[in-house]
Amino acid sequence: MDVLVINCGSSSLKYQLIDTDTEKVMAKGICERIGVDGLFTYKPTGGMAIKKAEFDMPTHTEAVQHVIDTLTDPENGVIESLDDIAAVGHRIVHGGEKFAESVIIDDEVIKEVEECSALAPLHNPANVIGIKTCMKLMPNAPQIGVFDTAFHQTMRDYVYTYAIPYEYYEKYKVRRYGFHGTSHSFVSKRLAEVCDIDLDTSKLIVCHLGGGASVTAVYRGKSFDTSMGLTPLEGLAMGTRSGDIDIGAINYIAEKEGMSFEEIMDMLNKKSGVLGISGNSSDFRDLWNSRAVGDERSGLALDVFCYRLIKYVGAYIAAMNGVDAIAFTAGIGENDEGVRQRVIDKLNYMGVFLDGEANQARYGKEVRISTPDSKIPVWVIPTDEELAIARETAALLK
Ligand code: AMP
Repeated sequence: MDVLVINCGSSSLKYQLIDTDTEKVMAKGICERIGVDGLFTYKPTGGMAIKKAEFDMPTHTEAVQHVIDTLTDPENGVIESLDDIAAVGHRIVHGGEKFAESVIIDDEVIKEVEECSALAPLHNPANVIGIKTCMKLMPNAPQIGVFDTAFHQTMRDYVYTYAIPYEYYEKYKVRRYGFHGTSHSFVSKRLAEVCDIDLDTSKLIVCHLGGGASVTAVYRGKSFDTSMGLTPLEGLAMGTRSGDIDIGAINYIAEKEGMSFEEIMDMLNKKSGVLGISGNSSDFRDLWNSRAVGDERSGLALDVFCYRLIKYVGAYIAAMNGVDAIAFTAGIGENDEGVRQRVIDKLNYMGVFLDGEANQARYGKEVRISTPDSKIPVWVIPTDEELAIARETAALLK
């Protein structure tokens, strides 16, 4: 079955066409600068050239139309007609408490996703635009919604409840939700497979470390706890996000600097994390390079990131009363041997040791990075959120 996977941002649209029978990507790309001018990238598989071109995309409608036209183009396309697209799988960021699994989208679902927009004002409205556009252009193809938050809906009340007056949960559903659920679910399943562990009885930890980063404790195949909260701001220090911070510190800075709440949120989301500490970059390659030539603040940013990651891993081992396997994934998790080494070295007390040679792994390689005699296996498992969405879409339709 050919499934079109759509991931809409406010001014971008990433897409992949995946044959779910072979799990091969037939074509993929991105529409950028929607509403500005429009930049279109198309990468068909099978040796054909990558196309990158400016294309006028005032709204997401033109972007989706151009994706479809390109996929069905007689010269460069990979399918004959629109009818070859059996279904469309949409990444939706926030499903609140309404969506614990993927759904076939209808008007009622759209209404509920719109209601969740208050919890993810930057993402959900863009996701809804993508859905409505695809519904209009492909009225015969079922549209499936796959939620970032759904995997974490198994968290228990004492895990997701903030210690603030309960009425805010009752009135506004203020609680911890967690994100990157599609990735944590995909990677934990694969981790159990490669380690030959029964997922249903296992205790796993997945470190999804990309521009946004989160750690999840996966207990018996279900999310037990995860480091992000109501929004993706809680938890680890990230590229540009602060992660956990004392609200008292925020109040103090706001008073001293005369900052508005909007300015504070912008600072915490876009100017903090390793970028904020280093004053240099949010990219870990830059940080290691600068540290190597004596830039102390880049070194400090790496120390802060790794230390907090180690604390979360330790906390989740305690929360699950043990761990059977650990995985690293996403940009940093899959490529940064220095970060992985620091975490694993702190697990020596449990009999977990790093295989230095295997830890050189980079660029999408699935590999065990703990020594063969380690008490617990540690793996790098490349994440593939698009494939996970395509699988969910096909499974739901079957
Ligand atoms: P993602 O959001 O999963 O695409 O991850 C992007 C981040 O991965 C970048 O901001 C970098 O910090 C990090 N990254 C990518 N490649 C490398 C690498 N070779 N070494 C260290 N970090 C990397």
